[in-house]
Amino acid sequence: MTSPFEEAKRQVDSAADKLGISKPMRARLKKPDLFYSFWVRIRLDNRRRAKFMGFRSQYNNALGPYKGGIRFHPDETAETIRALSAWMTWKCSLTGLPLGGAKGGIICDPSKLSESELERLSKAYSKKITKIIGPWKDIPAPDVYTNSQTMAWMLEEYESVIKTSAPGAFTGKPVELGGHAGRHESTGKGVVITTREALKRLRLKPRQTSAIIQGFGNVGQFAAKYYEELGIKVIGYSDSSGAIFNSKGIKFKEVLAHKKKEGKLATMTGVKHMSNDSLLTQKCDILAPCALEGIITRKNAFEIKAKIIAEGANGPTTVDADKILFKRGILVIPDILCNAGGVIGSYFEWSMNNTGEYWTLNKYNKNLDSVLTKSFDKIYKLYEKEKNIDFRETAYMIAVKRVADAMRLRGRQ
Ligand code: GLU
Repeated sequence: MTSPFEEAKRQVDSAADKLGISKPMRARLKKPDLFYSFWVRIRLDNRRRAKFMGFRSQYNNALGPYKGGIRFHPDETAETIRALSAWMTWKCSLTGLPLGGAKGGIICDPSKLSESELERLSKAYSKKITKIIGPWKDIPAPDVYTNSQTMAWMLEEYESVIKTSAPGAFTGKPVELGGHAGRHESTGKGVVITTREALKRLRLKPRQTSAIIQGFGNVGQFAAKYYEELGIKVIGYSDSSGAIFNSKGIKFKEVLAHKKKEGKLATMTGVKHMSNDSLLTQKCDILAPCALEGIITRKNAFEIKAKIIAEGANGPTTVDADKILFKRGILVIPDILCNAGGVIGSYFEWSMNNTGEYWTLNKYNKNLDSVLTKSFDKIYKLYEKEKNIDFRETAYMIAVKRVADAMRLRGRQ
C-alpha cells in the first residue's frame, strides 16, 4: 500500500484533472502550509525523563483558521498526519465551514501512561504549539485516543502561557469549559445521518437493513447506537481484540456493557468470533469502518458484500479499492462527508465560544442534521449528473474547487 499522504495527493490530482486546475495551484493544494515536528519532554511518575515525537500539520487556511484533531497513537507517523490534515481541509470545505484544515499527533501509547503522565504530556504538547494555534489561527480538537479531558489540559496550558481566556482555541472541550453537550456524539451521529441519506437514494428501508461496525471507539459506539435507533440491525462489531458477529443482530447496549466490564469484545459470549479482516467481508447492507486508515484495500475490495460503505474513520479506503468498489456498484460515503459531524459540531462550539451564545441540544442536533443532509444532497446531485465518477471523486470536486477558488481570490497561486 502507498502511504496515506500519497493516497491523499492522488485524490487531489484526480479532482484537479476534472476541474482543470493549473499546475502551480495543484502543487500548492498538495502540500501543507506548515509541518512542525518536535520533541515533547515530560517527567514520568517514576521521576525518569521521557521524550515523545509530536507533530502539527497546518495544511490550508484559505477558507478560515486551520482546524483539526490531535491523535495519541503508538503507530503515528508524519505522513499520516500530513494526510489527515489534507482530509480535514477537504472536509471543512465540502461541508461549507469557514475553516481550513490541520492535524496533530504524538507518537505514544496512551494505555501505558498514567492519568498524570497524560496530563503532563498534553500540557507539554500544548506549550510547544502555543505560538502557532489560537481561535483565529488553528483550533485543535480530540481525535483517536484523545478526548475532552485532553482538550481541558491543553486549553489550561495554552491560556496560562498567553495569559488570556481563549475558549475558542480548542473544541471538543468539557461542557464546563465551554464545550457543548452535543459535541461528543456528533461524529457517530453524522455517520448515521449520512447513511440514512444514502439509504433513501438507494430506496432501502432502514428496518430492512443490517450494518457491521469496525471499531468501537467514540465514532463506532455512537454510530451503533443511532443505527439501532433508526431501526438498522447491527450484526457485527470489532475492536482491537477481535470481532463479534451474529446475523440476527447484537444489541448495542449488551456490547457496550460487556466492553465496559471486560475492556474487550473478544470475550463476549453468545456470538460468533472471527478476525477483524473476516468481519469486513461478511454479508451486510452497510459496512462502517470506524477505526483507522487503510482498512479497505485492493486485497479485500472484491470480497466486500455491503451495498454501502460509511466511512466513520478517516482514510479507511485506498484509491485502488475505491475503483474496485465503484465498478462493483458499492456506494462509498466518503470520510470527508461521513465523519464530518465531528468538525461541524466543533464549528458550532467554536462559534458559540466566539459569540457567547449557547444553543440548546435540540438546536445543535437539528443544525448538525441540516448541514450534513444539505452537503449530501449537493454531492448526490452532481454525482447523478457526472455519471462516470464515484461519490468520493464527486465530493472532492466540490471540496477542492471551493479551496482553489478561495486561494485564487486571495491571490495565492
Ligand atoms: N477529529 C475529528 C475529525 O477528524 C474532528 C476534528 C475537529 O473537530 O476539529 O474530523
